[in-house]
Amino acid sequence: MDKEDTLYQHGTLALLVPGLFKGTLTVGELLKHGDYGIGSVEGLDGELTVVDGKGYLVKSDGKVTEVGPEETVPFANAHYDRETDKYQRTNITKNDLETEILKNHDYQNIFFAVKITGTFKSIKTRVVNGNGKPPYKTLAQTALDQSIFEAENMPGTLVGYYSPELFQGVASAGYHVHFISDDHTFGGHILDYELADGKVSLQRFESLDLHLPAHDSTYRKFEFDYDETDEIIKGAEGSGNN
Ligand SMILES: [Zn+2]
Repeated sequence: MDKEDTLYQHGTLALLVPGLFKGTLTVGELLKHGDYGIGSVEGLDGELTVVDGKGYLVKSDGKVTEVGPEETVPFANAHYDRETDKYQRTNITKNDLETEILKNHDYQNIFFAVKITGTFKSIKTRVVNGNGKPPYKTLAQTALDQSIFEAENMPGTLVGYYSPELFQGVASAGYHVHFISDDHTFGGHILDYELADGKVSLQRFESLDLHLPAHDSTYRKFEFDYDETDEIIKGAEGSGNN
């Protein structure tokens, strides 16, 4: 099996729900598992997007920086980019494109990456404002304090994943996508967009390589309340218009 067939993930979305925001993997380590990806950093202090082997962090004040290898993440995905399908698409909204992908491909039960390079007629992102230091709030509390950014005619790259419904909690079921502009001045976790013109690339994965923070005793001991996990993930991390 080729490495491009594997989606690497560190941590689970569920561990973010009660506020386990400690960085338990370095970005340097994450980048050994792919050249594209998404995630967050310690303290949920921004939104991470990995493009062409470089990680860009958007903070809640809107500033974008390239993250160093020593920066740590509580949750992140990475994969090696090798599209399995691609096509050009113009003038389509996020909702319509995401629906169209699942209509044209029988991918609802597999993990796949979505990458769009092009110009977005409009794009709306959010960036959570974790303060970066413990004690951490819960994901729901943290998501209340977020910045919303909007841009028009913005060239850039969308990167993210579709996860099957069964894996809600491991990931955010459905689509979870981030954005970084070509000039690295605008980005975040995508809430909505209208694509003006872009190349849509999909990449099917055969395997999920799930790496857990097994060396972190806080994670090992934690008593999760999984009854609340689904609802909170849908509210805070879903790619809907929340
Ligand atoms: Zn996100």
